Amino acid sequence: MKRILITGGAGFVGSHLCERLLNEGNEVICLDNYFTGSKDNIEHLMDHHYFELVRHDIINPYMIEVDEIYNMACPASPVHYQYNPIKTIKTSVMGAINMLGLAKRVGAKILQASTSEVYGDPSVHPQPESYWGNVNPIGLRSCYDEGKRCAETLFMDYHTQNEVAIKIIRIFNTYGPRMHPKDGRVVSNFIMQALKGDDITIFGEGTQTRSFQYVDDLVEGTIRMMNSRDGFVGPVNIGNPVEFTMLELAELVIELTNSKSKIIHLPLPQDDPMQRKPVIDLAYKELNGWEPKIQLREGLGKTINYFDGLIKSNKA
Ligand code: NAD
Ligand code: UDP
Repeated sequence: MKRILITGGAGFVGSHLCERLLNEGNEVICLDNYFTGSKDNIEHLMDHHYFELVRHDIINPYMIEVDEIYNMACPASPVHYQYNPIKTIKTSVMGAINMLGLAKRVGAKILQASTSEVYGDPSVHPQPESYWGNVNPIGLRSCYDEGKRCAETLFMDYHTQNEVAIKIIRIFNTYGPRMHPKDGRVVSNFIMQALKGDDITIFGEGTQTRSFQYVDDLVEGTIRMMNSRDGFVGPVNIGNPVEFTMLELAELVIELTNSKSKIIHLPLPQDDPMQRKPVIDLAYKELNGWEPKIQLREGLGKTINYFDGLIKSNKA
């Protein structure tokens, strides 16, 4: 049995990670400041003997004896991370310093949830880990993109300078049950709009692309990365390489929900990347043949059921 700290454990991805690691027989400490996460996401784990919940903000140090740390804390949707940009960058940078300091003191292995956003609006397509990215350092998205880039630098420097055992994953757009219904991300927006019969809001022409990964595939890749061979630190892309335009996504959501919603077009936000698709050869090679198993149609079905349940129980 390992003792595992998960920062951001009450969020969308973190809650799935808590559940999976508990089910595998570990002791899990979930640390969260509830900015975008919620106790609802982990309510079903509260009675578990080996689950602990701590309210804490990772911009402040935290002391605990653990074997592993999954550093997932950070708002992930543009609406949420742009709400308080200074806080967002503090969470990424000061949070990384605090968690790396803890890992160094107690000898824990630590994994960083980085992001495809480190590639910015990429001029190389699809994106391999060797691509350095095209990020505007002073734009609307930079608090998130540059914060995550700096966190990667900190992880590498703690590894080379202090021999901290690190792992870095770059997560591409992920969706699934327990996404926040109002987080403004495209999958949650389209599904909520379709279920309520509201207009589906496509930003710009809808020709921009994203590759959508179902949360279970991400959790599998994340745990495999934590357990990967010593000396392999990444960064490694974890995402689904099947690429869709936003128009195709809107049409699929309308079909799967049987919705009468109309598609409307709104202005494209500043610095919105035009395309994004991971190269996952490194993950396949280093993580025992890891590749996504759940394709969009199936994953959207599960996510639609979740949001439908929220609406019916007046929780959305
Ligand atoms: P989320 O917003 O649902 O979860 C983030 C969690 O971190 C929330 O529970 C929030 O309350 C908590 N948190 C935020 N700031 C904190 C702080 N200062 N101290 C303590 N807790 C704090 O987002 P998510 O989609 O679950 O993302 C989880 C991680 O994965 C994030 O680091 C995100 O950057 C990364 N990521 C996610 C995606 C995606 O598509 N979901 C893509 C790339 C990277
Ligand atoms: N988007 C959209 N309609 C929405 C929300 C988002 O067309 O209601 C677009 C957005 O402009 C972007 C893509 O969908 O091009 C993915 O946006 P999201 O916020 O989900 O993720 P990110 O831009 O961080 O990849």
